[in-house]
Amino acid sequence: MKFFKSEKKQGYTIIIGCGRLGANLANTLSDIGEDIIIVDINKSSFRKLSPSFGGMTILGDASEVSVLIDAEIEKAAAVISVTNNDNTNIMIAQIAKEFFNVPHVIARLYDPEKECVYKEFGIETICPAVLSLKEIDKLLSLGQTETEEDDKAE
Ligand code: AMP
Repeated sequence: MKFFKSEKKQGYTIIIGCGRLGANLANTLSDIGEDIIIVDINKSSFRKLSPSFGGMTILGDASEVSVLIDAEIEKAAAVISVTNNDNTNIMIAQIAKEFFNVPHVIARLYDPEKECVYKEFGIETICPAVLSLKEIDKLLSLGQTETEEDDKAE
């Protein structure tokens, strides 16, 4: 997968949660030269970072404002909250947006019903269930088109 470095972006990106998604994102962004700070409550989660990861790690509960201050959130260009807890992600996103005026805030939400609510607060949300649904729909309609073309060819 390709990520493009934003030319406009200055400052660094804070990723909250070094799990399957967070670590992958941190490795990928670090590889293209972005400055990354990644926070996790669990020390062993940092093992998912690749040896080439050039960012900083902070061990702590990111729902505590003191941990976000340690990560110098006031200087961040983006905060991406991808812990495995929707409420934690939303709380962190709201703190980042409202108290620290972080320009770009993204939260992962497992519950699709919460997605539209938080869009109203200017928080961008990523919902794996909704994305999966779109991909499945795309694959199914692709399969359908192929079957129709096979029928025409016969
Ligand atoms: P995954 O479900 O694989 O995307 O992993 C989620 C990650 O979020 C795990 O590594 C957790 O340790 C981490 N996590 C969960 N709650 C917090 C929190 N309050 N602060 C920081 N990291 C957290």
